[in-house]
Amino acid sequence: MMSKDEIESAVISHGFTDYKWIDPKVIVVAHWVRVKCTFGCSDYGLGTCPPNTPSVNDCDRFFKEYETGLIIRLTKYADRNAYPTEWSREMTNKLLDIEREVFLSGYQKAFLLNQTCCTLCKDCSGNRILCKDKTKSRPSPESFAVDVYQTVRNAGLDINVIAMNPSEIHRIAILLIE
Ligand code: SF4
Repeated sequence: MMSKDEIESAVISHGFTDYKWIDPKVIVVAHWVRVKCTFGCSDYGLGTCPPNTPSVNDCDRFFKEYETGLIIRLTKYADRNAYPTEWSREMTNKLLDIEREVFLSGYQKAFLLNQTCCTLCKDCSGNRILCKDKTKSRPSPESFAVDVYQTVRNAGLDINVIAMNPSEIHRIAILLIE
């Protein structure tokens, strides 16, 4: 089973240097996040987004089943009208590699909340049953009702609403480990 140092080495070797260990039991889960997914987000209905995710209360209970986790913060200069999808796909694959490495070392509950809603396919099926890549699709923290802003700030990292476009943006992944 990988030690914390070995997990950090794996994270860094994939190019992620901005991360914090957290106790998943203090991840902030909130109903307002689910409301924002449902009303106002163009990704609503994608295969790993609401309504294809557990209820807010079940998400809250899910995080409490874990002993430890990592918040991984990604930074990218991006234009929301020309989102860097290739970069995003590359980051997702690296994060999945880390999840697999951690899992294979003996952490049977290892699970990644990805840095974006699943965009592995050009045309998402829009539901779990018909998902075209079931082994790689992972939900985002937001789709599991995580108040990302408060959770990241509680971990001691900065995150703010971005008003300018294009601009430097942050994407947040959470790797749950036990
Ligand atoms: S793998 Fe494809 S079909 Fe499945 S959730 Fe992701 S984008 Fe949708």
